Amino acid sequence: MKDSRLTMRDLPAIDRLLEVIITYPELGELPHQIIVDKLRAVVGEARNQLRQKQTVDISVESLVTKARRELLALGTCSLRKVVNATGVVLHTNLGRAPLGKNAVRMVQDIMSGYNTLEYNVATGERGSRYDHVVNKLCALTGAEDALVVNNNAAAVLLVLSGLAQGREVIVSRGQLVEIGGSFRVPDVLKQSGALLVEVGTTNKTHLSDYQEAINENTAVLLKVHTSNYRIVGYAGQPDMKELVTLAHSHGLPVVDDLGSGTLVSVEADGWNEPTVAACLTAGIDVVTFSGDKLLGGGQAGIIAGKKQYITMLKKHPLLRAIRIDKLSLAALEGTLIDYLTGNVYNNIPVQRMLKRRPEELREQACQLEKMLKDLTLYGWHIDVIPLASQAGGGTLPEIDFKSFGVSIIAAGKSAAVLEKELRKNSIPIIARIQTEKILFDVRCLDFDDMEVIKKACFRMVKGAIK
Ligand SMILES: *Cc1c(COP(=O)(O)O)cnc(C)c1O
Repeated sequence: MKDSRLTMRDLPAIDRLLEVIITYPELGELPHQIIVDKLRAVVGEARNQLRQKQTVDISVESLVTKARRELLALGTCSLRKVVNATGVVLHTNLGRAPLGKNAVRMVQDIMSGYNTLEYNVATGERGSRYDHVVNKLCALTGAEDALVVNNNAAAVLLVLSGLAQGREVIVSRGQLVEIGGSFRVPDVLKQSGALLVEVGTTNKTHLSDYQEAINENTAVLLKVHTSNYRIVGYAGQPDMKELVTLAHSHGLPVVDDLGSGTLVSVEADGWNEPTVAACLTAGIDVVTFSGDKLLGGGQAGIIAGKKQYITMLKKHPLLRAIRIDKLSLAALEGTLIDYLTGNVYNNIPVQRMLKRRPEELREQACQLEKMLKDLTLYGWHIDVIPLASQAGGGTLPEIDFKSFGVSIIAAGKSAAVLEKELRKNSIPIIARIQTEKILFDVRCLDFDDMEVIKKACFRMVKGAIK
């Protein structure tokens, strides 16, 4: 019925479509009204297309198929597990840090029943959700006190609102950054009600620049981790300790948005990211960092530092609006326990993946190559190749972690087509394309992931995936 002479009057009646669609048993559990609404929407869309003189198939079969597909999608999860073959450990679009087993167990145990979220079992009275992780965070960072909120963006907003509303915050021009997902330092400052005072230049800011900007209306000297980019060449910022000394000589706090923040040192390619503890030891008064970047937990924003400031923040009315939820809190506590019990590299996936050595990765790539070997019988090319993985998530930019992977050229299929088919797998496989090849970096893959890749590829040669 693909006929441009069709008119509105040829559109099937909703009742007719309904008769057909309810013969599909898998829609049986959906509320009747939802089915009817969907049919109306599909017919409405076809009507619009006809009105615009577009060619449209308005057969009962075609309209029912469309409605059925959309209705079936309602009953399936859109948020799904994927295989991350990109080698990017903290892939923001792929959910950042995967949780460790311990953290997952905590989340499962605690969420399936009632819990002590805001209950103090010792006294039988109301407790605080913030207390659960304070001692653990203080032990791991050397902070006097800590507070956790929804995410790091919220943490920065709270700190600036609490410590600098209506007053000036001095920031180096080299640190007025934008992090993916619309976190922009000048905008967050504006939202907090603090006034931004920019000092220095894009590449260089001197201690004297801060010194000259300090006046009686200054509230905070703010440092921001440049996270997703690096200024190289003729560039520099004052030493952390000098900045702290300057601020303290004026009775001012230094706040450092560490972005990722790491509890253990991460070394790669000659780069050494200072730990949260090192920043606090250098005298930084308040730091903020994410729970789901290098820390490897769930989404959270952690504020740690001097008690006098954290106490002020705990009383701030904004806190209620940005509070952490029980799922993330359980994930965070479970992850912190792994740090405290010396199980960092065994239990925390992000830390384990970043630590993996090239020799081990090469061995795994060889294993994957072996699993895919029979594809060569169908004319595919499979090779083990050296790769460079990234930490991702706006952490450790431009730093390559030496890795290995498998490159694939499929017979009679462009890399773009293969990439798309991998994405359409029942467990989507996310891979990179480079010079007409598909690359599977093995850094973030476990054995099950490799099985998924194997099955998907072999199904393709048997033509099951269209
Ligand atoms: C990632 C990042 C943020 C935002 O953290 P979220 O936990 O995603 O809210 C803020 N500041 C810096 C410097 C970052 O790197």
